Amino acid sequence: MDSLGAYIEQKRDAWLEELCEFLRIPSISTNPDYLPQIKKGADFALEALKRAGIEHTELIEGVGHPLVYGEYTGAEGAPTVLCYGHYDVQPPDPLEQWASPPFEPAVRNGNIYARGAADDKGQVMIQLKAVEALRAVHGRLPVNLKFIFEGEEETGGQAIDAFVPKSKEKLKADAALVCDTALFAPDLPTLCIGLRGLVYTEIEVEGASHDLHSGLYGGVAPNALNALAWILAGLKTPDGKIRISGIYDSVQRPARSERASWRRLPFDADRMRAEEIGSVALTGEKKHPLERMWARPTLDVHGIVGGYTGAGAKTVIPGRATAKVSIRLVPNQKPQEVLAALEQRVQELTPPGVKARVVKIHGAVPLLIDPNNPYIEKAAKVFSRVFGRKTVFVRSGGSIPVVALFVDALQVPAILMGFGLPDDNLHAPNEKFSISNFFRGVETVARFFEAAGQV
Ligand SMILES: [Zn+2]
Repeated sequence: MDSLGAYIEQKRDAWLEELCEFLRIPSISTNPDYLPQIKKGADFALEALKRAGIEHTELIEGVGHPLVYGEYTGAEGAPTVLCYGHYDVQPPDPLEQWASPPFEPAVRNGNIYARGAADDKGQVMIQLKAVEALRAVHGRLPVNLKFIFEGEEETGGQAIDAFVPKSKEKLKADAALVCDTALFAPDLPTLCIGLRGLVYTEIEVEGASHDLHSGLYGGVAPNALNALAWILAGLKTPDGKIRISGIYDSVQRPARSERASWRRLPFDADRMRAEEIGSVALTGEKKHPLERMWARPTLDVHGIVGGYTGAGAKTVIPGRATAKVSIRLVPNQKPQEVLAALEQRVQELTPPGVKARVVKIHGAVPLLIDPNNPYIEKAAKVFSRVFGRKTVFVRSGGSIPVVALFVDALQVPAILMGFGLPDDNLHAPNEKFSISNFFRGVETVARFFEAAGQV
């Protein structure tokens, strides 16, 4: 073991205790009753930055919950890495399903159980302890660092959304390190290089000016709910093809080598079907499920409101009906263009007697990061070294808006290096974080800082 490894080993108990202290703060961002705890969470992160040896720190207050900022500019001539994490957490409900209280961290079977353990306080702490370890061992840092920790990740990130575009000079960096994701499987070092985008809408249909009796008007009055069902059914085939003209035009199939690497991942479609989804079959296009989830656009209806849904019968012809519909986007698709194509398709499908409109709720751009970027290459190398296995590159079917924000506003490659596990119960009862991943995470991030200093 070298001096960095030895230092990390020697700090085990102290760092776990410090992580527990962080985890005891119920910094729930979605509930305004917890504002004082959010402030406490921000102060803790700020003090932890100072303890790690980051001289310049500040609390940025204004819109929304405070941003915690820190910078180290002492590595002359070396590149700068911008590090991101969040100190807010999801609400812990339902409380009765927790084996130990969510804000009283407990260690069981090599894991630490608490709300925020993996998402994301454990991973914020990984970055801070990597700094502390490098400082202790070398007396200085090998790379320039900037830190931005937000307190609204679980609730829309208004503060960071407003701050990043107007702080391009302050946040200027050569790469962004985002520690808020998971390994594909236990012990398998994983870098995520692709994220899907999103167009989230509400489709509103209006027929009659008010609800009507189907005995009196059935046969002549337009039914908004029938019309909405007709529109929704016309948007997608049962085998998963989206029926919006032009939607696949800009979709690029991942390279053969990337698809081949996905087939080598420890992924069992039937296990996912049975254990995670609980359905009789997987649906969708005739492509590998990982390709369907990571590299194909999909359309889903999330909710329908209209008419009578109470007990018994009420023979109403609804005048109005709405549905929430979203489309997940893949690289090269533009939210604006997809939205316009959806609007046009909805108009084509709208039956006589009703008016339909598509209201945009929110959107996110899809992202693909070049794995040949030197920072990604260095990250993959150190990750492999610490975990003793070759790093795999995956994509994610979801969106992480802050990543697009960094890539877009700051023009930096983003490295999504996370140390959670797929079964960490994020946003659910009994959230946990593997203690061994915590310490391997500290070592990986520290070695990444060393390697990034030499790019
Ligand atoms: Zn998170």
